[in-house]
Amino acid sequence: MSTFQAPKGTYDLIPPDSATYLAVREAIAAPLKNSGYGYIETPGFENVELFSRGVGESTDIVSKEMYAFETKGGTKLALRPEGTASVLRAALQANLHKLGNLPVKLWYSGSYYRYERPQKGRYRHFSQVGAEAIGAEDPALDAELIILADQAYRTLGLSQFRILLNSLGDKECRPVYRDALQGFLRGLELDEDTRRRVEINPLRVLDDKRAVVQKQLVGAPLLRDYLCDACKAYHEEVRELLTAAGVAYQDDEKLVRGLDYYTRTTFEFVHDGLGSQSAVGGGGRYDGLSEMIGGPALPSVGWALGVDRTVLALEAEGIELELPATTSVFAVPLGEEARRVLFGLVTELRRAGVATDFSYGGKGLKGAMKSANRSGARYALVAGERDLAEGVVQLKDMQSGEQSPVALDAVLDAVRERLA
Ligand code: AMP
Repeated sequence: MSTFQAPKGTYDLIPPDSATYLAVREAIAAPLKNSGYGYIETPGFENVELFSRGVGESTDIVSKEMYAFETKGGTKLALRPEGTASVLRAALQANLHKLGNLPVKLWYSGSYYRYERPQKGRYRHFSQVGAEAIGAEDPALDAELIILADQAYRTLGLSQFRILLNSLGDKECRPVYRDALQGFLRGLELDEDTRRRVEINPLRVLDDKRAVVQKQLVGAPLLRDYLCDACKAYHEEVRELLTAAGVAYQDDEKLVRGLDYYTRTTFEFVHDGLGSQSAVGGGGRYDGLSEMIGGPALPSVGWALGVDRTVLALEAEGIELELPATTSVFAVPLGEEARRVLFGLVTELRRAGVATDFSYGGKGLKGAMKSANRSGARYALVAGERDLAEGVVQLKDMQSGEQSPVALDAVLDAVRERLA
């Protein structure tokens, strides 16, 4: 293993590609900031029980993929594998739900960790931007979140994604369905692992990606036929609101998702250009989660969109985001005196908000102009002894190659005028 190799299943974000990641995060966050969601940041690790109780002991995320460890002081912690449980924990700790202003709407952006088998689109360290609306049961809130995710993807220029939608029922109707499904699954010929899953979390079996299993699932009881009237009416309204907003979706009765806390509305955004790791984002309602982690009843809904996979989706659709050039002006000093004068000008330009960079390391003209080119700057400021003797610097248009002298005290105005 090379000393410079990042750990398995991880990768570094480096310029210029890292700019796309930042822009994707921004694009996903923008509709949330514009819709009453406030920014929240929680620690990268939590007490391990938060996830085992919240996400669910029977899920792959907790049973196989969690980075759990014991501190020197004997506390059992885990790197966060997802965001919802932490955000809800933080909201409860800060008593946000008691401020008489429900729902509490929060958004977040950060790193998450799962010990998964790495492949394209599936990493051990990945990034999500997420949103949670805590403490209200209202189909319009479920619809809002789906509409905002759709808006984020569309703003990025994505079009080859689909929204899968399902209802998982509530604590009234889901147990009845669970029993019926278990009865059906127990009659199938399944491997040992899957049989165990039938006993702990039968709904997850519906999600099995293997064709042999899917074949056996034909004729399995569907949750749709077991939904209670309240769940049916709720789901119908979510669907109507989405349709009214012009957001297309597909009903997917088998959409269960890998976390135990979901109730009623669940959804996933899948992108058709991504191969096997096609889910770019997902979420749903989690009315029981607060109680599962020891809080009061707080019906809530949320989603998390994967930044890594959204970037892959952009690549798959051949979309290049229009990112503003990072540097507008690049200063090239020729000689010691010019170095001091131009460095002063660079500072002045930067303080005035002009993105400016400087040729460091005492390069000659040729090497420095190469750096100016690489920086993507629109203009270069070049000065040598003779320029300074005349009280000017040369302002060079990097595209046309045209160059004209500008008086030292007029540089900021000249640059501003040309960049405008
Ligand atoms: P989940 O929390 O499993 O519902 O995941 C939500 C989104 O996070 C997924 O749709 C992916 O875009 C992203 N995601 C989850 N796990 C990974 C992973 N191991 N690597 C990259 N992205 C992931």
